[in-house]
Amino acid sequence: MADPTTALIHHPYTPPSGFVAPQPGVFKASTVIFPNVAAMRSFEWKDKTGYTYGLHGTPTTYTLEERLCTLEGGLQCVLLPSGLAAIANVALALLRSGDEVLIPDNAYSPSKALAEGELSRWGITHRYYDPLNPQDLAAKISPRTRLVWLEAAGSVTLEFPDLCELVRICKARSVLTALDNTWGAGLAFAPFDLLPGFSPPLGVDVSVHALTKYPSGGGDVLMGSVITRDAALHMKLKLTHMRLGFGVGANDVEAVLRALPSLVLRYRAHDETARTLAQWCLSRQEFAQVLHPALPDSPGHAHWHQVCQKSFGGAAGLFSVIFQPRYSQTRIDAFCDALKLFKTGYSWGGPVSLVMPYELTTMRSDLPVHLKPGSLVRFSVGLEAVNDLQADLEQALLRALD
Ligand SMILES: *Cc1c(COP(=O)(O)O)cnc(C)c1O
Repeated sequence: MADPTTALIHHPYTPPSGFVAPQPGVFKASTVIFPNVAAMRSFEWKDKTGYTYGLHGTPTTYTLEERLCTLEGGLQCVLLPSGLAAIANVALALLRSGDEVLIPDNAYSPSKALAEGELSRWGITHRYYDPLNPQDLAAKISPRTRLVWLEAAGSVTLEFPDLCELVRICKARSVLTALDNTWGAGLAFAPFDLLPGFSPPLGVDVSVHALTKYPSGGGDVLMGSVITRDAALHMKLKLTHMRLGFGVGANDVEAVLRALPSLVLRYRAHDETARTLAQWCLSRQEFAQVLHPALPDSPGHAHWHQVCQKSFGGAAGLFSVIFQPRYSQTRIDAFCDALKLFKTGYSWGGPVSLVMPYELTTMRSDLPVHLKPGSLVRFSVGLEAVNDLQADLEQALLRALD
């Protein structure tokens, strides 16, 4: 091949095989090259026996899918470009016009916005249920209910529901359950093995995970996963994923693969620091309530204990405080701004601690009685030293509120 233009594209050199390193190599592709036409016609991506197109999987995406299945105790996995896209993929694959989806009132807010702004336009209705009242869920399940979302702990207010009872109710009524498992990260509890004494074990049907959070661990990657233990259910999710073209970039997949070996250590560190700080906040008179599932007075603590304590005992790195109602929102905003190590920003799971004030009245259809009146601020605890974080909270309280 004389012309370097062509020779640089069709280069004969291939490196020797047998390279072994701590991390797997990264394969990037839209086009996948087939050895011949017959192979092109015979390769099947649905069962992962062959490669056909970048969107349908590469060795890099398959590797992450397998590791996430190991993490969460599932058998099949689909990767998506964000956690929210993963939630949307579940809805689009499993719901049709005329169906109803039930969502806990403390769900991740964009998940509610998806139901309100998109699903409603396709004739899919939704209702919110009280996550701390299984009877409310039972009463809201109708013949049109096709899917029930679960979240443990709930977003922002961190109530821990009676997950086992909610799953039991849905199983008894033959309604599919999908758990947003971002908080538990596959470490705080086993989503597919919630109910003891069943063989095979009983748990949720679908587990969604915003890999953006702890699995990525850097605050620099957006990705989501949908994990199942049922091949037929997985195929529905995978076909919708294929038809919608929800691909993920190989460099982002590699970033998550790189972060996974330290996931358990990081989760424990976030958890330990968050518990120490939440405990310290309990002793401060500025706060009317501290929300963290491992605190005995936090809503749903007994359920957290039942579900999480018997396995790993984890509780993520999030907690929220409700300020005494005597403080104005302006003072509370000033408190957030006075923090130096805690930065104001959405998302969580990275090394940097974050703070975010939330307006609960706009987030909940019913303001629950278990939440004290007052303004709420959510902390996402990073990987900084606990003493520095506590000192930061203390100086900001003194500066902004006293
Ligand atoms: C962050 C988050 C998501 C969405 O993840 P993105 O990748 O930001 O879209 C979904 N559920 C929960 C509970 C989350 O915290």
